[in-house]
Amino acid sequence: MRFAHDTEPALRAAVRLVNSAEEPDTMTTLAQLREFYRDEGYTGRAPRGADELAAVRDLRPRLRALLTADRDRAAELVNEVFAEVATQPRLVRHDDLDWHLHVVEDDSPLPVRVLVETATAMVDLIRADEFSRLSLCAADDCTGVVLDLTRNRSKIFCSPACSNGAAVAAYRERRRRAD
Ligand SMILES: [Zn+2]
Ligand SMILES: [Zn+2]
Repeated sequence: MRFAHDTEPALRAAVRLVNSAEEPDTMTTLAQLREFYRDEGYTGRAPRGADELAAVRDLRPRLRALLTADRDRAAELVNEVFAEVATQPRLVRHDDLDWHLHVVEDDSPLPVRVLVETATAMVDLIRADEFSRLSLCAADDCTGVVLDLTRNRSKIFCSPACSNGAAVAAYRERRRRAD
């Protein structure tokens, strides 16, 4: 299964944003929001001001609900987004990106774009019935979301920190049993 090439970056950005709410919160300053914008390859209007940061932070629970819903519930949530936001879908080609869909105006505030782009990416996931790509982190003390785009579906931790932590815990457990 291959998703549209803008689906994966949109899901990756949404998962990163949702997981930024894990302790310690890593989306608390405008500098962190600008870093997110830059790293995730957004174009168009850059984030500005405390209001936009607050709106992005407030968006996280909604994105989390969308990314962790089952397929039928996700379809409802996606429809709510499309009913709420005035979309203007059009195909564009810019920088070194081939034809892809822009769904809202490029000068829309970042939280609006993130919400709509996540919903659009979920359309792809729903149509393809690929919900096993999204899960919750396997680490005991973590509620992070895991996006698994690997061929053999081997990803179970949300971050290197969680997979390293689990490796250390498993090692200790083996040592304890060996004693
Ligand atoms: Zn684009
Ligand atoms: Zn984790």
